[in-house]
Amino acid sequence: MRFHVGKAYDDSDVNGYQGADGRLSIIVAMGKSPDETAATSPSLPMAPLRLASRVCDIDGVGPAKARRLARLDIRTVADLIRHVPLRYERQFAEGTINDLPMEGVGTARGIVVATRTMGVGRGSQRFIATLQDHTTSLSLVWFNAGYLRKSIHPGMKLRVTGKVKAFNGYPQMSNPRWEPIDQEAEPDRVDDRLRPIYPATEDLPSARIEEIVAAALGLVADQLVDPLPAEFCRQRNMPPLAQAYRLIHQPADEEEAGVARRRLAYNELLLLQMGIALKRHYNQTMLQAPPLRFSPAIDRHIRQRFPFTLTPAQDRVVGEIVSDLSHATPMNRLLQGDVGSGKTVVALHALLLAVANRKQGAIMTPTELLAEQHFLSIQRMLEGSNVRLALLTGSRRGGTSQHAAMMRQIAAGKIDIVVGTQALLTETVRFADLAVVVIDEQHRFGVLQRAAFRQDKRDASVATKAAPGATSGKKTAGNTAHANTATNANNIAATATHRSPHYLVMTATPIPRTLSLTVFGDLDVSVIDQLPPGRSPIVTRVVGPAKSDDVYQYVAKRCAGGEQAYVVLPAIEGAEEDAPIQLKNVLDHEKLLREKYCRGLTVEAVHGRLKTAEREAIMERFRANETQVLVATTVIEVGVDVPNATVMVIEHAERFGLAQLHQLRGRIGRGVHKQQSVCVLISEPVTEEARKRLDAIAGSMDGFRIAEADLEIRGMGDFFGTRQHGLPPLRVAEIPKDMDLLRMARRDAAALVAEDPGLAGESHRALRQVLLQQYGQTLGLIDVG
Ligand code: ADP
Ligand code: MG
Repeated sequence: MRFHVGKAYDDSDVNGYQGADGRLSIIVAMGKSPDETAATSPSLPMAPLRLASRVCDIDGVGPAKARRLARLDIRTVADLIRHVPLRYERQFAEGTINDLPMEGVGTARGIVVATRTMGVGRGSQRFIATLQDHTTSLSLVWFNAGYLRKSIHPGMKLRVTGKVKAFNGYPQMSNPRWEPIDQEAEPDRVDDRLRPIYPATEDLPSARIEEIVAAALGLVADQLVDPLPAEFCRQRNMPPLAQAYRLIHQPADEEEAGVARRRLAYNELLLLQMGIALKRHYNQTMLQAPPLRFSPAIDRHIRQRFPFTLTPAQDRVVGEIVSDLSHATPMNRLLQGDVGSGKTVVALHALLLAVANRKQGAIMTPTELLAEQHFLSIQRMLEGSNVRLALLTGSRRGGTSQHAAMMRQIAAGKIDIVVGTQALLTETVRFADLAVVVIDEQHRFGVLQRAAFRQDKRDASVATKAAPGATSGKKTAGNTAHANTATNANNIAATATHRSPHYLVMTATPIPRTLSLTVFGDLDVSVIDQLPPGRSPIVTRVVGPAKSDDVYQYVAKRCAGGEQAYVVLPAIEGAEEDAPIQLKNVLDHEKLLREKYCRGLTVEAVHGRLKTAEREAIMERFRANETQVLVATTVIEVGVDVPNATVMVIEHAERFGLAQLHQLRGRIGRGVHKQQSVCVLISEPVTEEARKRLDAIAGSMDGFRIAEADLEIRGMGDFFGTRQHGLPPLRVAEIPKDMDLLRMARRDAAALVAEDPGLAGESHRALRQVLLQQYGQTLGLIDVG
């Protein structure tokens, strides 16, 4: 049955739905009664298709297709159903080549009579084919697609769809959509149908995926469990989940596709907001942190340690944090501040307030390099004080007696502040009385992944602070599970609240308001929106690769005059000879600079494949200005603080995220200089989007503006430059485009949690199940429900 817009859903639509939102969380209905199963597909001799079935159980899918699907992360039928179209295209009635509309979109079929690859540079090859039918011939051109020579050969029959232009008197299509067709098959009789365009690969084009979806969808749609009650959907004029999946894959028209999209987008956003709302509820009702006493005398005492006066922005944020810390509800605050805005000292203020209250503080960093830098700079500021500081990183553990002694001191409360990496989260690290935890450069951990810190006070109760998404990081996932076990055990004994430290999460990745609502909804936000005095803005230039000779001569000149430079590349070493894309890389570039441009200077290379000790030694030489030019991958992205470095060159700049470029650029201009700091982005902007992005970064030093631009241009999916940000991916919803749905989801989630925080009500059972499936037990549902 089709969904009709404007018509309320009658119960017959709803009946038979047990099914789940797949994408965030298909709950696979297991262990159904046999007759129920039989009812789904009475005529099939094989086992009926289930959402959990492997794709090779789908009619027409053999091992080869299954392998190709796996490359799209589609392994089960549920994965397939969640693989929703990117967009739709009208299928146009097929005509002869001669009948193709000039300057219009058309579809034709023919036989490939010639192919050729043109252009050098593997990334920039054109693939050209000539297609012929009984009327005339058509030239087909694919840009940056040298790889197609492996897929399209003379003698093949193709159907192509694309915009037709005249070129040298012949019709030509650029980047047409294509599919091989059966030699004998009759042309489809096409009725202007809306066809889904799926994310696809070279050897599994969208049209094949469409066929596979068609073979499976009808058999499994009714197995999807809708997390939302039928009545709830009806009130919002949204179709039930299974109906939405049917319509998103096979809409009759744009309106149906829109209705389906809206429901699925809402579903994702609601689950996300539920996760956030439940977490917040849990934090406020079930967790208790030590309230920290604060006074002007303590404040003065702490500030005496800082070698400078705080900026007004830093002052304001310190005030916000101090106020949080004075309460028994754990602080959950996100501190945003552009690179170099001075977040560390604000964090130190919070840590020292813990120490002033005779409790412990910890600061966790994503890299050892950064931990070491924090350790050294904090050590410098605390020189001559009684505060006991320790550095704890993975590479320093090694089971040595020194390490064991440190663990004992931390557990006995004989260390006040611990600086460390994720090594802080290992099981052996137990704090005597941890009051404040700072997590620095959060985006490197995964957005919502917070830590499970352990405390050792008689009751050994554990406060889990793992937020939605925590299960994405393997290491932390293990810890979280461990912590949860403890929580539950504890919970059976007593319904008392759990102890938790206060959390301050810091990031230099500016997060637009729209996005912080989405993903950081359970955090309060503070912003340092002002740089310390004396900084001069960095000049950013975008140049083409042809200019690189000039660029490196300029680098050499600046460095010969006493300054230092970073040169950043996207790869460590050259790719295989026949790889489709060849990038400039660290190792070759180091050699080039050393031998050609920077003779007389010291050039070194640093990247993630070096051993930590080696990397640290290289960084130390750069810091000491024994090395003038540092050729690097993005390992230098966060935390590296060498004020004398004033020049940065980034090769293949189009390959980096905007936020990442901004972050990289923040490595220069960190001191007070006579000379202007300069960042050169070398790039051949291949697409309009790439050009817009580079213009945005060159035109602004304001991280927030850049972040908004990034979000607008690329959407949220890749906002953090990586896909490993620990969030349930939004496949359908788009921020900021779906802000209205986001607001609605926020309101609905808040209302649901207020009404039934444990989701214990019968009508919330499916939702509870889906949330538990998605977030694991990190939400506190167990405790509250
Ligand atoms: P980020 O926010 O990127 O972590 P840092 O905390 O590393 O920034 O600070 C950047 C630099 O600015 C450091 O060298 C720090 O000592 C310095 N700094 C921080 N606050 C001030 C201030 N109020 N006045 C002068 N220098 C400051
Ligand atoms: Mg920092």
